[in-house]
Amino acid sequence: MSNSFRASRKPACSYISEKYKTATHLCCCGCGSKVVTPLKTAGWRLTTERRGVTLYPSIGKLEFPCQSHYWIRGSKVEWAERMTREEINVVRERDRRDREAYF
Ligand SMILES: [Zn+2]
Repeated sequence: MSNSFRASRKPACSYISEKYKTATHLCCCGCGSKVVTPLKTAGWRLTTERRGVTLYPSIGKLEFPCQSHYWIRGSKVEWAERMTREEINVVRERDRRDREAYF
């Protein structure tokens, strides 16, 4: 998709590309999966400050084998607690909406 993304060989989470109102980065657990976070109104918020990049809300990729759940704050990864059933449902619902909106 993005040349600059493919060219990046840096460790997970050191690189976030912002394009077409969508941010992408590699899953922070190092599994190599590409995490796509839409930045539209109902999606994530990407803020760039002097201390780094912050993505809100958290990243929860249940469709990945690693099922990672973490926050990116100030370009640092903060691993979240294992998601509760309720949180998983929220994320699943959000993913479903994203898919409907983007495919
Ligand atoms: Zn992962």
